[in-house]
Amino acid sequence: MDRYDRNKLLDFIGESGQEKISSARVLILGVGGVGTNVLMNLAALGVGHIGIVDYDTVNITNLNRQILYDMNSIGKYKVEIAKDWVIKFNPDIDIEAYCLKLDSDNCEEIFKNYDILVDAFDSHSSVDLINRVSVKMNKILIHAAVSKAKGVIMTTIPFETPCLRCFLNINEEEEKENETKPSGAISPTVSMVASFQAFEVLKLILNQGVLIKKEPLIIDGLLGVAIRPKIYISEKQFCPVCGLPLHSFEAFEE
Ligand SMILES: [Zn+2]
Repeated sequence: MDRYDRNKLLDFIGESGQEKISSARVLILGVGGVGTNVLMNLAALGVGHIGIVDYDTVNITNLNRQILYDMNSIGKYKVEIAKDWVIKFNPDIDIEAYCLKLDSDNCEEIFKNYDILVDAFDSHSSVDLINRVSVKMNKILIHAAVSKAKGVIMTTIPFETPCLRCFLNINEEEEKENETKPSGAISPTVSMVASFQAFEVLKLILNQGVLIKKEPLIIDGLLGVAIRPKIYISEKQFCPVCGLPLHSFEAFEE
């Protein structure tokens, strides 16, 4: 018996799929509510090489949704606690912790070591940077955002699917505005979103299933619904980052 027996019994994984999972290289950007849940899922699956990026320390207000941490974690760097957790939980995993704020200088140096990037920052502050660098380096990016009881998930594959900037509703002004305002968030929302991101990672590694690409998946935990919105593609305006036509979708009606 080994720890992956139940993984291997699944027809979409099997022995060969587990080997692919073990050799996969995934970078998780942010180990807050969404990121810690993605990390726990990937560590349980047995993803062999995981990087985590965050410069924040744990505070008491994180514990309503960042359930990898506990009272002893308060004041300590999130990446250090998260790295220690992975080492104890699954010593098979090669885990690298980057305790820093991403900027245009360090981004490429870190991203080059990984095949799949998971955008799990709770805030929107770095989304434009991450998007630009992932397109430039031709890296797959799995984006997620959380707002109230709602989550949005989308996988972008450079030059094959729209990037995050292709969508008109993502812009720098909005990011700056969101950066300064703390917002409410609960554990069920972040874990729901993180589970979908972990599934995207798994599908990409195994080359199985249907990716959430080209249009986002919007889930509302309070209403108990998940939708794929209708997408409108501009004929005249093009994305300044990847060059594809600009996209938009109707706001989710509550
Ligand atoms: Zn684009």
